[in-house]
Amino acid sequence: MSFTLHGAGVGGGIAIGRVHLISSARLEVAHYAVAPEHIELEVMRFSTAVDNVRAELQGLRRNVPEGAPAELGAFLSLHLMILDDATLSQAPRDLIRSLRCNAEWALVQQMDYLVAQFDKIEDPYLRERKADVVQVVERALKAMQEQPGRGSATPAHEASLIVVAHDLSPADMILFKQHQYAGFVTDLGGVTSHTAIVARSLNIPAIVGAHSARQMVNEGELVIIDGVHGVLIVDPDERVLKEYVERQRQIELGRQKLKRIRATPTTTRDGAAVDLHANIELPQDVEKVRESGASGVGLFRSEFLFLNRKELPGEDEQFEAYRHVAQAMHGMPVTIRTLDLGADKAVNSSARSGPNPAMGLRAIRLCLAEPQMFQTQLRAILRASHYGKIRLLLPMLAHAHEIDQALAMIGRAKQSLDEQKVPYDQGIEVGGMIEVPAAALSLGVFVRKLDFLSIGTNDLIQYTLAIDRTDDSVSHLYNPLHPAVLHLIAHTIKTGSRGNVPVAVCGEMAGDVTLTRLLLGFGLRQFSMHPANLLAVKQQVLKSDLGELDKLSSRILHADDPEKAKRLLEKLNA
Ligand code: PEP
Ligand code: MG
Repeated sequence: MSFTLHGAGVGGGIAIGRVHLISSARLEVAHYAVAPEHIELEVMRFSTAVDNVRAELQGLRRNVPEGAPAELGAFLSLHLMILDDATLSQAPRDLIRSLRCNAEWALVQQMDYLVAQFDKIEDPYLRERKADVVQVVERALKAMQEQPGRGSATPAHEASLIVVAHDLSPADMILFKQHQYAGFVTDLGGVTSHTAIVARSLNIPAIVGAHSARQMVNEGELVIIDGVHGVLIVDPDERVLKEYVERQRQIELGRQKLKRIRATPTTTRDGAAVDLHANIELPQDVEKVRESGASGVGLFRSEFLFLNRKELPGEDEQFEAYRHVAQAMHGMPVTIRTLDLGADKAVNSSARSGPNPAMGLRAIRLCLAEPQMFQTQLRAILRASHYGKIRLLLPMLAHAHEIDQALAMIGRAKQSLDEQKVPYDQGIEVGGMIEVPAAALSLGVFVRKLDFLSIGTNDLIQYTLAIDRTDDSVSHLYNPLHPAVLHLIAHTIKTGSRGNVPVAVCGEMAGDVTLTRLLLGFGLRQFSMHPANLLAVKQQVLKSDLGELDKLSSRILHADDPEKAKRLLEKLNA
């Protein structure tokens, strides 16, 4: 039976494919067919992994250190019991044989089944034991990865699959860069959550905040994602399917057409030059930046290098990553934001730090609290600055003393490189993100102490309107057209321009074509966004005449009601 589910569209576009239900443990698990002659080997691979995990858990239980909490032994016994339950230890062998599939996939199928059983239990304590099931499975998956002989995996028909999950962390999402799925749907998440941001950077249609999608769709079911309107159509009939295939074709045609303006200089009709930069998460994203024709990297979210791993990357590893981007951009500016870890991007993703992580020890606060980690990154960035035009960007500043401390740390990193005679760009520019209202309202000190500013509208909106950007239950209140938000943005652009300090916008607002003219009207000349949005924004710039934007932009800024601002915006864009 056909039905629709609604959420928030991410990445635009339309995807048509078969549902692939996942839990985060499955992210690293490919699904592939095993040749009949290798089936028994695959079963053996599974059995060895289970044996290894059993031995590991028994060893841990034997060696519980003195003084360890009494529950530790019981906890390990519970994990051993879960491991030896036939659902996890026997059923996957049957699945491998009957479905001729790989061991990891078979195990995760069984995990999903068990987790669903736990979900039905009324007792909250017992229900939560599903986390132990997931942990045991993760241990077994890891044991399989460590076995030699792995690597024959060829993901099956990924391009026709639509991943549906209850929740995906930004760390989960970044792993999808290695895959080629057709689209994503998650039950949780707001449009500017980092999960959504990474989904957008994958340039495939997605829906976040689809509430109970994970429960309501079945593996293998045909679905359509309308990423423009945030609609998931389950089991569409022939007529609807045909219509969406046609819409998909039109969107693709439009994308192809846009490529024609890739090399066109970005100027308004009346000749004002505008810089369009790109946002990246990982060094390999730089290829997409080059393809988009961006004139620089306006935001390298360096913290993504730190996710999905046990050890923090060392100075040399970071240096190589930053140098790669700097060199690939051939002298165009590369703005590396120093670590914005914390909140939804915790290094240890299971430990969201503090009672209110978005307001806790995040970004610059964390870096100043962990000077060793910060120094390592600063040295790596400075070393890479010798190989291109790198700029340093400090996130989440609110206090003058944070700027002073960060600048002192940069000075220290420079000094240590000088002492070692390691070359770096002595004139490297240091900028600050304006993403806390306190910063936008005390710009004097920012303008005096920093070389450039970049408005992080995602957080600026979150903190101005007191809306957790990851929480879909309040995402309807997340409104870039709220007068308070517009005032802070316009004020920052104006103050920067008066003080001769360049101002960019690098939050999601910069890549929203419906806001391009408004931001131009506010005086913005530097935008940084996902490479996938760049040409559409460029087209909007090419069609605009600054002289025609002033009056309406000012009326929108002074509209005291977002609905009125929306109506005026439509007029501005007409
Ligand atoms: C922002 O807050 O707008 C921003 C660009 O930073 P991030 O989305 O990574 O928090
Ligand atoms: Mg931010």
